Amino acid sequence: MKSLSEKVAGIAPSATIEISNRAKKMQREGIDVISLSIGEPDFDTPKHIRDACIDALNRGETHYTPSDGIPELLAAISEKIEKENKFSCKPDQAIVTVGAKDAIYEGMEAVLNPGDEVLLLTPAWVSYEPCVQMAGGKVVKHAVNQKTFQLDDSILERVNTNTKMIVINSPSNPSGAVFDKTSMNLVADLCQDHDLYAMSDEIYEKLVYGKEHLSLAAIGNMAERTITINGFSKAYAMTGWRLGYAVAPQKIIKAMSKVQQHSVSQATTFAMWGAVAALKGDQRCVEEMRTEFNQRRKFVMAELGLMGYETAPADGAFYAFVKVAGDDMEIATRWLEKGHVAATPGTAFDAPGWIRLSYAASMDRLKEAMSRIRRVGGN
Ligand code: PMP
Repeated sequence: MKSLSEKVAGIAPSATIEISNRAKKMQREGIDVISLSIGEPDFDTPKHIRDACIDALNRGETHYTPSDGIPELLAAISEKIEKENKFSCKPDQAIVTVGAKDAIYEGMEAVLNPGDEVLLLTPAWVSYEPCVQMAGGKVVKHAVNQKTFQLDDSILERVNTNTKMIVINSPSNPSGAVFDKTSMNLVADLCQDHDLYAMSDEIYEKLVYGKEHLSLAAIGNMAERTITINGFSKAYAMTGWRLGYAVAPQKIIKAMSKVQQHSVSQATTFAMWGAVAALKGDQRCVEEMRTEFNQRRKFVMAELGLMGYETAPADGAFYAFVKVAGDDMEIATRWLEKGHVAATPGTAFDAPGWIRLSYAASMDRLKEAMSRIRRVGGN
């Protein structure tokens, strides 16, 4: 038989799969595994959002819509971006996608030609590299400072005439770091000086603790070359709804729209009505979840500190990024097999020697997990 796609064969399977498969197997065997490896809020979607979706279903919102999304949601996104993120966004500069992940993939397809280089900052979320590869681009990696998790001038060494785009993710999955003004201005200058596009994944913007979230597109003229990625999964606990969006110059949105029209067509119609309620409704639910995450964050960071672990700043998202003494795959395996705590090895994010713990779990489970980690050790 003829061989399958070389492009897909070249994409590495996620380094998380082995550990998470083992954790699932142990759970099936009846072992009480505490899963701190998941990247989703443990809360249910707020009721007013669920109700808006149910109402939409009941009134027959079950048909195709315009591919870019229902006008009501595009208008709500444009309003939200102008008010909160503070840059200009007309409704035709937005597209509703099947999760933020789809927005990232479509954005890469819209911008990249074969051989174009994309700068990824490591530690990096697992799907950026495969999305670049599927779109035919080439990934160039640059590690952020391993103490501050901010950016400095050394990134300039990675830029050449083939560089087309830089991807930033603040607050970051997996490090929890939030880029400060200096890092953001550095990215903006880099893009202006070398004529680069930027993709700014701001999906964790609402989960920031004591720091300010900055939108790249709000700096100078950056809106004319930035694809801002956002969605509903993290802020409104809507992971299973598969709804995200991108905001970008109209030319890029039009190109993304072509990819969408000929692949997924559109996001789910009645789900989009839930998203309208999310953006236009009472935002107290977001603050309640953030407050709860913040309490758990303080507890987990304090415990890790007492155990003597070095950690990344944990100023945003819901992850503690922990430096371990030795091989992260080996230590994550030990935590799982001896402590029955599932965590994600940093190798999955191009950060060997680190382990990511998600604190999107109940306080009771977190307390138990910390005592188990203390027992089995790893530093
Ligand atoms: N970006 C980052 C940094 C993420 O952590 C995730 C989800 N894990 C996504 C994008 C994708 O989110 P969605 O559920 O909207 O596809």
